[in-house]
Amino acid sequence: MNENLKEACGIFGIAGKENTNIYSKIYYGLFALQHRGQESAGIAGAMVNANGFKQKGIVKDMGIVPEALRNKFVEGNFGIGHVRYSTTGSSSIENSQPIQIKCNDEIFAIAHNGNIVNTAEIKQKLRVATFLTTSDSEVIANLIAHHYVSGKNFLECLKQAMKEIVGSYCLVILYQNKIIAVRDPNGFRPLVIGKNEDEEGEICVASETCALDAIGFSYMRDVEPGEIFVAEYAKGMKISSSTYSVLKDKISYCMFEYVYFARADSVINNASVYQVRKEMGKILASESYVDADIVIPVPDSGITAAIGYAEWCIEHSKRICYSEGLMKNRYVGRTFILPNQADREKELCTKLNPIKTEIDGKRIVLIDDSIVRGTTIKRLIKILRDKGAKEVHIRVSCPPIKFTCKFGIDMQTAKEFIARDKSIDEIAALIGADSLQYISRDGLVKAIGTENLCYACLTGISPVTEKQTKLIE
Ligand code: 5GP
Ligand code: MG
Repeated sequence: MNENLKEACGIFGIAGKENTNIYSKIYYGLFALQHRGQESAGIAGAMVNANGFKQKGIVKDMGIVPEALRNKFVEGNFGIGHVRYSTTGSSSIENSQPIQIKCNDEIFAIAHNGNIVNTAEIKQKLRVATFLTTSDSEVIANLIAHHYVSGKNFLECLKQAMKEIVGSYCLVILYQNKIIAVRDPNGFRPLVIGKNEDEEGEICVASETCALDAIGFSYMRDVEPGEIFVAEYAKGMKISSSTYSVLKDKISYCMFEYVYFARADSVINNASVYQVRKEMGKILASESYVDADIVIPVPDSGITAAIGYAEWCIEHSKRICYSEGLMKNRYVGRTFILPNQADREKELCTKLNPIKTEIDGKRIVLIDDSIVRGTTIKRLIKILRDKGAKEVHIRVSCPPIKFTCKFGIDMQTAKEFIARDKSIDEIAALIGADSLQYISRDGLVKAIGTENLCYACLTGISPVTEKQTKLIE
């Protein structure tokens, strides 16, 4: 399988009132999900009312939401949207979403967040279909279309496709007079349902609740793992749901959504990301407290855990202060997506700047959410020492990441992972830390509050077995 297919994106769908335009709601919903993908953005719309439905087209472009969708518009009171995050190599307009598929003289539009692991098998099965993109989302769309051509009911075709797709997928589909939301049976990626309290009958779905907040919708519930949720227009809005758990899989929420990926103000899988992150910091402190003068976060990703760490210290009468210590230039893009290590190192210097008065002569506990390659933390330790730090102790609110993610988080080559084949002491020496401690796996599970988690990037043990990936007949 092509390594460049991995994606972790943001999706949004809305079924709005008759005679309204929902473009701006999708726009602001996607804007709130911008952290889930900055590479491209797109919106597809349809006009749906008592007279029927009409697809109104699609707009998409490269870049963040205000760049990609500036001066663009699609009519319609139903629509879906997508922000894409992928790695270099597969970054192109063809791979941007939503994708439109034509079948049986009908058009449906689809947006996908996740990563399927049996694309090769499915492509083989769909021998006739030509693929315009290298994205696995197109494979899903074509598989659904493949079944739809054979004349069945659309939702039945979707269920059939779910039986064959293995991996992580949250989908929003704009089909006829419906917005259909689908979550894979493992529930890897989050997907929530919201409603407009002011305009009865308006329903939306989004990767995270921060998108609901952005448009003033309230959180109803999550789309359950294996669920197909439908909001359709039929003399007013009708909502229905059917659950289809293909493999009776164990629920395996991605733990990295809590650690890093989701926004701290979101609620996913019924848990507040902020509360979970703060709890991670507290547990981290309880497991690996070290005597120091200040606790500082690596902004922004380490902030909530650092607050939790400092709170634990206060609760346990430890003399320690929370300090910003490192200032972030918020206009710099994410370090991670730069193509090579040299560029990443250069960019970090412009991204984070230490405040000398906070650092000089201090014993520092530096908190980050995760160490992947070790680039960020190694450089930061050097920067802090250059500014006079007496000691630098590293505490990390995610256990060592050792394995690549097959299910949509951008962790490409395990060879680059600093924890892959090194002990914690070896890593500490390599990054130049006075001490290094990661949260334990039990601590992480306790903070998240459920054992229904995927942490294959820590253990290498996937919740989807090899046998299941070959299940397709
Ligand atoms: P490293 O420098 O060790 O390779 O990366 C660790 C840093 O990258 C941490 O500060 C963490 O917040 C951030 N990080 C971890 N995973 C991801 C990701 O998937 N995308 C981006 N943009 N940053 C990440
Ligand atoms: Mg970070």
